[in-house]
Amino acid sequence: MKKIQVTQSSMPKFEDYIDEISSLWESHWLTNMGEKHKKLEANLKEYLEIENIVLFNNGHTALETVINAYDLKGEIITTPFTFASTTHSIVRNGLTPVFCDINDDDYTIDAEKIENLITDKTSAILPVHVYGNVCNVRKIETIAKKYNLKVIYDAAHAFGVKVNGVPIAKFGDASMFSFHATKVFNTIEGGAIVFDKKQSNLETKLNRLKNFGIAGPESVEYIGGNAKMNEFQAAMGICNLKILPEEIKKRKCIAERYVKNLSGVSGIIISNISSNVESNYSYFPVRFKNYGMNRDEVYENLLDNGIISRKYFYPLITDFECYNTLFDSYDTPVAKEVSSQILTLPLYASLSLDEVDRICDLIIKGVKK
Ligand SMILES: *Cc1c(COP(=O)(O)O)cnc(C)c1O
Repeated sequence: MKKIQVTQSSMPKFEDYIDEISSLWESHWLTNMGEKHKKLEANLKEYLEIENIVLFNNGHTALETVINAYDLKGEIITTPFTFASTTHSIVRNGLTPVFCDINDDDYTIDAEKIENLITDKTSAILPVHVYGNVCNVRKIETIAKKYNLKVIYDAAHAFGVKVNGVPIAKFGDASMFSFHATKVFNTIEGGAIVFDKKQSNLETKLNRLKNFGIAGPESVEYIGGNAKMNEFQAAMGICNLKILPEEIKKRKCIAERYVKNLSGVSGIIISNISSNVESNYSYFPVRFKNYGMNRDEVYENLLDNGIISRKYFYPLITDFECYNTLFDSYDTPVAKEVSSQILTLPLYASLSLDEVDRICDLIIKGVKK
């Protein structure tokens, strides 16, 4: 039986990529904000309907760099139900993460619980649009205004998502996208900071911070790192962006097949996409709660049949070896429970509906009566 991976990176036609990169053999300009970098910036601004974008070599450095650019200090309120990167970006900047619990239905930060966690050291909120589910952006904005906090969204899962027709990148002070190979849109490795609100100097500062803080041939203004996206990454992005609408259409069909097969099964919880959200169908999370098998048994059963699913996100950030002596994962009981029950199922454009049916059969018939 054919092995099914949890994801498969989108790639353009080989000839299209070769076409795109061929001019690099004339220019010999391989990195440092060349023509591909400029073209991808312009194409992404148009696709995302956003005023400002700064490209990075990956999403994580983008997030680290924007925290650095805002000169944030003290504490940042965030979620433990996320990928390691979110928390690491806070800690690696010398700040303290303060963990807020999540909603039981969409797994994003529970905005009702944020205010209680604010202290005089709080400088920002860093929520995550988990699986592309949109955070309670209105409530978060209200709190941020009241306490004068920055809001940086980890939008790694939410590339191109819209809510009530409004592009996701318009919320908060800034958002980070990841263009990692496994994401819905990829530049092999890559990422970006996007923002709509005019913010004095932010774009320039981010652009300098990603290039050693260099401001000119004889001027280094900031203690920056090296986080530049190279021309081959940018070219991959240019090509992948062209095929993205088609890829999302296929993903939508697959997600709908999962919904059709698994909805109504007692003990299986699938999150519904609200009618006001235009999704990118980046993940298909399924939660097993009082089901005939627990999450780990479903995972093992699929694995025995050559199907790779992912315990995503598990373990919870606060249970990582590097954090578990500093934080108690039981302080966020909803996140703790969800993390032990959640599984993301294979989802990528070329996955066939027959394969989806087989995966669902294994989940449903795997339960011993
Ligand atoms: C992928 C991801 C990141 C990190 O992005 P990279 O491009 O891999 O560095 C950060 N946060 C979340 C939620 C992610 O899924």
